[in-house]
Formats: sequence, C-alpha cells, structure tokens
Amino acid sequence: MAVIKCANCGTTVNAEAEGCPDCGADPRTGEGAAAGLAAVENCAGCGTSVDAGTERCPNCGADPRTGEGGAKPGDSPQIDSG
Ligand SMILES: [Zn+2]
Ligand SMILES: [Zn+2]
Repeated sequence: MAVIKCANCGTTVNAEAEGCPDCGADPRTGEGAAAGLAAVENCAGCGTSVDAGTERCPNCGADPRTGEGGAKPGDSPQIDSG
C-alpha cells in the first residue's frame, strides 16, 4: 500500500485517501484543511476567546480587536494602551 506525506501537515497518509486524517486537507495539495483549525484571539473588551475572523464578541458584543462597541451602558470606557 502506497503512502504519501500530507502537503499541509506532513502526516503519513494513504495515497488513495481523499483527505488527511490529521488536518483534513487534501494530502496532495495541502489545501482544504478543516475550518475548525482557524486562529483564535482574545476579545479586547472582555478577554473571551473568539474566532480571529469574527466581527463581534459573542460574550460582550464588542469588536474583539478594539474592545469597542460592547453593549454596556453606564460603563466608562477603559482602554489599555499597551
Ligand atoms: Zn495533514
Ligand atoms: Zn468580549
């Protein structure tokens, strides 16, 4: 049985496999890796882990990159510059 190395993660994969069992990408091209491996960042407003591409924090509703826009009336804005 022939095996190849996944072009994306290097895992040894059955040459006839359509997808790498480790990362889900096409082992011949390295493309098509599972979306679940997307980068994660912490919301600047509340610190919750959110998908790096998301526009709003699911916890506080703010923009995760700036921490602004959260639905917190009466809360004085505190921006940590650092
Ligand atoms: Zn792989
Ligand atoms: Zn948040």
